[in-house]
Parts: sequence; structure tokens; C-alpha cells
Amino acid sequence: MTNKVQIGKTGLYVNPIGLGTNAVGGHNLYPNLNEDTGKELVRTALKNDINFLDTAYIYGPERSEELIGEVLKETGLRSETIIATKGAHKFVGENTVFDNSPAFLKQSVEDSLKRLQTDYIDLYYIHFPDDSTPKDEAVGMLKDLKDQGKIKAIGVSNFSMDQLKEANKDGYVDVYQGEYSLLARDAEKELLPYAVEHNISFVPYFPLASGLLAGKYTKDTAFNDLRANSPHFQAGVFKRNLEKVEELKKIAAEKNVEVAHLVLAWYLAQPAIDVLIPGAKRAEQAIDNLKTLEVSLTAEEIKNISSIFN
Ligand code: NAP
Repeated sequence: MTNKVQIGKTGLYVNPIGLGTNAVGGHNLYPNLNEDTGKELVRTALKNDINFLDTAYIYGPERSEELIGEVLKETGLRSETIIATKGAHKFVGENTVFDNSPAFLKQSVEDSLKRLQTDYIDLYYIHFPDDSTPKDEAVGMLKDLKDQGKIKAIGVSNFSMDQLKEANKDGYVDVYQGEYSLLARDAEKELLPYAVEHNISFVPYFPLASGLLAGKYTKDTAFNDLRANSPHFQAGVFKRNLEKVEELKKIAAEKNVEVAHLVLAWYLAQPAIDVLIPGAKRAEQAIDNLKTLEVSLTAEEIKNISSIFN
């Protein structure tokens, strides 16, 4: 059994390698997803001691939560599993808008509980900020839900620095989730230092830059999913990123580890980061990422990896 780590100041203890599940039933993000493959991914991850699942209402929409709920029921592993989910998206006719109003969040938590077939959610995030709700009022509703036992910890995602400060006025924010990778390091300026100072755990999304930092692409690889629009994958930028990944490969080879695990270990060496949620489409990838736990980095290696991407 892997040693579990505490997520920030929450009462949640997890394997530092979790699982991002936007490719489990996330039909609106990836074309041609097979739901049985997604369920098998979750089942295999849970059976191999990965106990932290990251999902959201909008993955599907709804299907990711529903499929996870089915697997938890079937395996009987609910009590050993830490589920993080998110809400804020609202469909208005053809359009999707964000809603952080207390009433909407309350209803969203109820709906997620049903889809996940559970009576509590371990970590509930406001997925995106809206323009109108004061963020401390939004978080105030999550605090009420926490007091009622419907959620166990409070998260916000994609908030600006100012929005995070407003959200955390009363000190209720436990976890912040935002984009952060060796290729997207803006969070180092303000968000990560604030997280350390306020004991907020920072969960980076796109830790592998959608697979780019796993070292498996070449300049000829073509993409037909969300990667086609990602800034990291656009012609000249993509080529330069591949060159940086080649540098990483040298360090990985010297240590006899794989690039993906070297990169994931680099995040875990940071004080604000307790747990990672690399995404996977197949069970082998999730299991493979557990090898990260065998990688230890010296201070010099941490610096060298960082400087490749500066
Ligand atoms: P990611 O973790 O950077 O990349 C995942 C992709 O990397 C996989 O789909 C797979 O690509 C590849 N991969 C994973 N492990 C690998 C391995 N060992 N070897 C080779 N390739 C490997 O990106 P992500 O999945 O989009 O993001 C992670 C999670 O963050 C999501 O699942 C979601 O839960 C969360 N997220 C949250 C937000 C938010 O707004 N809060 C936004 C985005 C994502 P292929 O299978 O295609 O090869």
C-alpha cells in the first residue's frame, strides 16, 4: 500500500498519484470515447491503490460522474475512494454560462451526489468563476454544505488571484485547481506562493500538457481532439516544446526513468502540491504513472529541469 498524504489542511488522505477522468465519458472533450474502457480505467486504478479521482459535471456532461458512480457501486470501494468533482456550467438554450450563485451551487452538489450514487462528496470545486457572484458568498454556500456533511472539503478552480483572495476571505478554501505544468508556469508568480502561505493545496491540471510532456510525440503527430486548439500544440510552439522534451529525455535516461514520471515527480517536489491528477485514456497509463512514486529528485535535478523550460 502506498503511503497516503494529506491534501493541504483537509481531512483527506490520498495516494499522491490520482487520476484525472475527463476522458471517462467525456464525450464533449474527446471524440469516440468508449465508456467500457473508461470504466475499466477507473476500476483498475482503484484496484491498484489509486484512491483520488478528479471529475466534473461538465465531463460528458454528466457521464463521467455517472460512470464513476457505477464503478464505485459495483466494486464497493466508495469508502476508500476520495472523489473530487466540480460544478459551475449551466446550459441556457444553446449556450453554456457559468453560475456561482449559492442556489445554483447547492443544486449542483445535490445533482452530483445522485450521479455519483453517494451521500457525500470529498472535495467539491467551483469549476469556473462567474462574473457576478461575490466569491466569498459562493464559498459560503459550500461551507454550509460542508457543515451539513454533504461535502468534506472546498475547492475553487480557474479563479484569478483576486477571485481566490475574495473566495478565501474567511479562510474556507482548502484546494485550488489551476493549469500548471513545465510549459505553463504563470501560477508560480502569485497563486503558488499564496497557496503555500494559506495552506491551500494546489492541484495542477494538464500536468503532462495533454501528453506532450510524456515524451511520445514527434513533429508529425496530428491531433483531432482538444489538443488541436491548445497553444502548446500550434506549429512553431509545438516544435520548440518537442526540443525541450528532448532535453528532459536526457535527464530521464541518466536516471533510468521515463520522462512522464520525471515530470510528475518534479511537481510533487513543490511545497504547495500534494497530489496530481494526470489524465489517462487507458488503464495501463494510470498504472504506469504510479512509477512516479519511485522517482526522487535532487535539488540540482529540480533546478536543471526547471531551467530547460525557463
Ligand atoms: P494531462 O494530464 O496533462 O494529459 C493526459 C494525457 O497524457 C492522457 O490523456 C494521455 O494522452 C497522456 N498520458 C497520460 N499518462 C501517460 C503516460 N504514462 N505515458 C504516455 N502518455 C500518457 O491532461 P488532462 O487529462 O487533460 O488533465 C488532467 C486532469 O485535469 C483531467 O482529467 C481533469 O480531471 C483535470 N482538468 C481540470 C480542468 C479544470 O478546469 N479544472 C481543466 C482540464 C483538466 P493519450 O491517451 O491521448 O495518449
